[in-house]
Amino acid sequence: MALSLKKHEMPVQDPKTRAKNFEEVALGYDEETAVAEAERCLHCKVPQCRKGCPVSVDIPEFIEKIKARDFDGAIEKIKESNALPAVCGRVCPQENQCEKYCILAKKGEAVGIGRLERFAADTYMAKQKEVQPVEFAADACKVAVIGSGPSGLSCAGDLARKGYRVTVFEALHKAGGVLSYGIPEFRLPKEKVVRREIENIEKLGVRFELNSVAGRLFTVDELMEEEGFDAVFIGTGAGLPRFQGIPGESLNGVYSANEFLTRCNLMKAYRFPDYATPIKTGRNVAVIGGGNVAMDAARTALRLGAEHVYIVYRRSEAELPARQEEVGHAKEEGIDFRLLTNPVEILGDENGWVKGMKCIRMELGEPDDSGRRRPIPVAGSEFDLEVDTVIVSIGTGPNPIIAHTTPGLATTKRGNIEADEETCATSKPGVFAGGDIVTGAATVILAMGAGRKAAAAIDEYLKKKKRMDKK
Ligand code: FAD
Ligand code: SF4
Repeated sequence: MALSLKKHEMPVQDPKTRAKNFEEVALGYDEETAVAEAERCLHCKVPQCRKGCPVSVDIPEFIEKIKARDFDGAIEKIKESNALPAVCGRVCPQENQCEKYCILAKKGEAVGIGRLERFAADTYMAKQKEVQPVEFAADACKVAVIGSGPSGLSCAGDLARKGYRVTVFEALHKAGGVLSYGIPEFRLPKEKVVRREIENIEKLGVRFELNSVAGRLFTVDELMEEEGFDAVFIGTGAGLPRFQGIPGESLNGVYSANEFLTRCNLMKAYRFPDYATPIKTGRNVAVIGGGNVAMDAARTALRLGAEHVYIVYRRSEAELPARQEEVGHAKEEGIDFRLLTNPVEILGDENGWVKGMKCIRMELGEPDDSGRRRPIPVAGSEFDLEVDTVIVSIGTGPNPIIAHTTPGLATTKRGNIEADEETCATSKPGVFAGGDIVTGAATVILAMGAGRKAAAAIDEYLKKKKRMDKK
């Protein structure tokens, strides 16, 4: 049979229906579709797809196992390199990673690697065996993990499996980092996927201390000098919102995307008044930005009942940083993309509430430092957009609280913690860091990979320390 140049379609909820609910949009392959998609893989001798994977998952091997209906074998293969396959299968930007390099992408569509990863992970989860707790040695070393996002969870899980007693300190009342408070339910189901990943790590014997803000309630030095932790991993992410600094940003009805999504995801504002968290979504909402976070905020606002939701982005469609699939889904749901448009002022009414946004049209000039063409305002092209809610989603930076309370911890000019790329070791002995707090806002797979590298390096560090102490 001739090789199909197209991927097998992913079944999705109908756009009109899903725009009104928070249930998962993409429904996943069934067994027959997964096997048929796996059969498209050529099992290349020099698999380019693997080079595109930030954690080098053995892609041809796991796909081969799906082809042979050895689904347990497939997930075992993936888990050798990826601790969170059900998450990554859903949210990784595959079109810029593995699938971009797949040989089939030269002539048609790449193998649906992400979809197959999700299939293998979901199949495993559906019949998951009980996770067995680790038996810790009486003299097992103690490691503190600060932050429970993908970097912290992966680091904690790996360390526990190696026999370390791990405590995760999380500032919020729920673990999971962006997986819980940022990425919405309709892209990443919390009960089905995120909670189970966390529970499995807990079952290994990892302790979670929630509502524990490091740098406020305790410092890194106190953890090591007074609480007896032998090493610390910092995986606190990049959750500090950035604003443009234009007039009107303090009006009522202006949110940072982080606040908007946190209220919705973590505090179930979308179920107000059953849950006490209020959230005001107006009739006309403008989301400023073009990344995954902007798409999530726009689609969340729609689901909360907004009549018209704009994405306002200063470059063109080709430069949109969001995953293609999310852009496609947002368009299908009716999000109105105002490209080559930049806000210059948020306009308020006499009571201090947003009533509109003044924007200017942009054109693209020469490439800037990022390699993308620089957006330049078109003189005299200002116009007003009638909106009553504005959600700012133009990026986030590191929260400075730990850096400010940890003497000897080197940071970059932007406030990110400096850490070795391979070992995640910081300038402070025994302190390691990884994920967005080091790289700036990036991806789940990179944060997960950093957490695992750090776990391996902490293991080495503590073994060496033990040997030295014995001498
Ligand atoms: P985080 O996930 O940010 O977790 C850090 C944790 O540390 C948080 O729980 C925080 O509360 C806690 N913390 C912070 N300070 C302290 C402190 N002082 N004490 C204790 N705890 C603290 N990536 C993708 O690959 N695909 C996507 O589709 C995608 N979509 C995204 C959508 C949204 C809305 C957002 C916000 C991000 C998205 N990302 C996506 C990016 C991705 O989620 C992050 O790169 C990743 O979660 C970073 O992981 P992390 O472990 O470094 O930090
Ligand atoms: Fe299969 Fe594509 Fe990887 Fe080749 S490059 S092994 S076809 S997924």
